[in-house]
Amino acid sequence: MWSPDEIAGLCYNHFKKLPKRGKPEAGREWTLLAAVILVTDSSEQKTVHKQVVSLGTGTKCIGRSTMSLKGDILNDSHAEVIARRGCVRYLTEQLFRAVSGQSSDVFCPGSEEGKWAVKPGVSFLFFTSQTPCGDASIFPMTGSQAQPCEPVKLIQSKEPERRGQKRHAESDLKESDRHSSRQKSGHTDEREAMTENKESNPSNAVLHCDPEEEKDLHRTGAKCVPSGPADPLQPGLLYHSIGALRLKPGRGDRTLSLSCSDKLARWGVLGFQGALLSHYLQEPLYFRAVVVGKCPYSHEAMQRALNTRCSDVRGLPPVFSKRDLEILQSGLEFPHNHTHTEAKHKHTLGRISPCGAAISWCAVSQQPLDVTANGYKQGVTKKALGTSQARSLISKVELFHSFLKLVAATEDSRLPESLCGKDLKTYWDYKQAAEPYQQAWTQLRLQAFPLWPRGPRELLLFS
Ligand SMILES: [Zn+2]
Repeated sequence: MWSPDEIAGLCYNHFKKLPKRGKPEAGREWTLLAAVILVTDSSEQKTVHKQVVSLGTGTKCIGRSTMSLKGDILNDSHAEVIARRGCVRYLTEQLFRAVSGQSSDVFCPGSEEGKWAVKPGVSFLFFTSQTPCGDASIFPMTGSQAQPCEPVKLIQSKEPERRGQKRHAESDLKESDRHSSRQKSGHTDEREAMTENKESNPSNAVLHCDPEEEKDLHRTGAKCVPSGPADPLQPGLLYHSIGALRLKPGRGDRTLSLSCSDKLARWGVLGFQGALLSHYLQEPLYFRAVVVGKCPYSHEAMQRALNTRCSDVRGLPPVFSKRDLEILQSGLEFPHNHTHTEAKHKHTLGRISPCGAAISWCAVSQQPLDVTANGYKQGVTKKALGTSQARSLISKVELFHSFLKLVAATEDSRLPESLCGKDLKTYWDYKQAAEPYQQAWTQLRLQAFPLWPRGPRELLLFS
């Protein structure tokens, strides 16, 4: 069938073959990688075909003040999120092919009028080169993991904010803190965020383990959502609470983006296709497994973050279900991660820093590569900001327009019922019209994630 190493190797190779644009500078910059793999199991031919259909790199997330009312900026450019959005772009094209009578690798007509099903033998895997930020990255260090690095010390100093300047997050931290970064999945702004994390609430649930054996914790820079209790921030194992929803750290101001652990948990119940494509699908699309590259890792933390937190959700609409994600780790390390980059680093090259660009590649016929920085196409001039040339093809508005093209290409008689006879105009309207999806989201929020922040509606009213 497939092994975790085979999947990791496939993703690293795919990345290697991409053009240089947006890739980290060898020996100085690092990044993170995630991908969606299409697995086609043909029992007749006794073959299993594996193909990367979407790949993402990136470590950054923009703050609230930079968000756009036009849906034309990528708020969250963590690799996992880029890979998921690229996959939605790929799936939209696959559905377009299906509705317009061309062959699709993924979809066949469903039993319900206007709905499409995944072909027999087809499934999707999710790969990420590191444990997702947030809850899955919080676990005790073991003796072997802590070597040769020292344990994390309580960080005393707050890094000064230097918005608008190129920042070298690594350089401003003490050596011990820099080591600590290797011990966690670490997205770029996390170290800065940890220094800002000053609130204290010792009453939270924290990890329980033998203090003699394991004395320190892998940390995440993602902070607990503001409406709930904060981390205790005590030394060692009492630094973080566990199971909490967390917001990604950003530059300067607070972000509204949930951690990758939280988003993966959500996709595990609602599917990763999003609200729009759910109009066309007979059932939500769930990842069959999540494969993590070689990095500090805890199966228990992954299980808790991605599965256990939602395992008791009941009353979902019929097609939705909470299936336990299979979680596996590969022994192969991403050659551009922080550890590798640090090992190869030459001081003449300048300070080590996270790569500012995010690469999206997906298996579509036109412009599969989409490289962004700060949420817009990389290299775009200031003058072009706000124009369609500056937009990423995986921005909300571009994905929405691709969806509208799919709707326009669908014969009236084959239009999903949920889109018939309604006066839908904005992105928000189309999302809300996906009723079972919204009902499932309501149940998930009520039962598992009551503190999940509601994003401002005005950010979704574009058309
Ligand atoms: Zn993340």
